[in-house]
Amino acid sequence: MIELRTPTQIEEMRPAGRFIASVITALAEKAAVGVNLLELDEMAHQMIKDAGAESCYIDYHPSFGASPFGKVLCTSVNDAVLHGLPHDYTLADGDLLSVDFAAAVDGWVSDSALSVIVGEPDPKDVWLIDVAQRALDAGIAAAQPGNRLGDISHAIGSIARDEGLGVNLQFGGHGVGRTMHGDPHVPNDGRAGKGLKLRPGLVIAIEPWFLHTTDEIRFDEDGWTIRSADGSRGAHVEHTIAITEDGPLVLTDRAA
Ligand code: MG
Repeated sequence: MIELRTPTQIEEMRPAGRFIASVITALAEKAAVGVNLLELDEMAHQMIKDAGAESCYIDYHPSFGASPFGKVLCTSVNDAVLHGLPHDYTLADGDLLSVDFAAAVDGWVSDSALSVIVGEPDPKDVWLIDVAQRALDAGIAAAQPGNRLGDISHAIGSIARDEGLGVNLQFGGHGVGRTMHGDPHVPNDGRAGKGLKLRPGLVIAIEPWFLHTTDEIRFDEDGWTIRSADGSRGAHVEHTIAITEDGPLVLTDRAA
């Protein structure tokens, strides 16, 4: 079911967005060669406690997970791109790290992701992250009242296709509200002018993720960590946005 939020409710969702943005910023600053993924998870966990927020991940146990997630953060390194379960791994020079973080503040959820490179970057990885970021920007720009959901998907997919990247449609964006995952699903490619009409009050996470040389994925035995099928690297960026009368409002904006 698709729920529309009132302008007052969207105002109430801002603290969660600001909190998520602050954690993503802190994670990006802390990520460096020699830092363990478990340290990043612990830092996010402490920030949740300090803010009186509630993790969306720690007890999360959908059918595909071998057990409850147990951590507050997704950390996906190199050929891992989504749902990476934080584990005892120390970041090495040139690693491409994607962090994905969702939590609730005052009962409202926000969700955001960012890819960073630690140490000396490979220019190809810089490019991949840049394409994902441009796709996110294009998707947000298309999130205008009166447009269709397919306009967002098409904007994202067009950037990828123009750069010669494939798009995997198994995982994409989603409605956000009292819980982390709601309707509608927001695919990372689609047909312009098709699908749900975008109305003020719709709150969604838009999250392009791309792999260098494939659009196929495989799952680790833990049921969580999703990797490229061919071992090539992936990038993932995400914002939670509210569609307002005036256009898209980026709730997880780190510059705000
Ligand atoms: Mg997310």
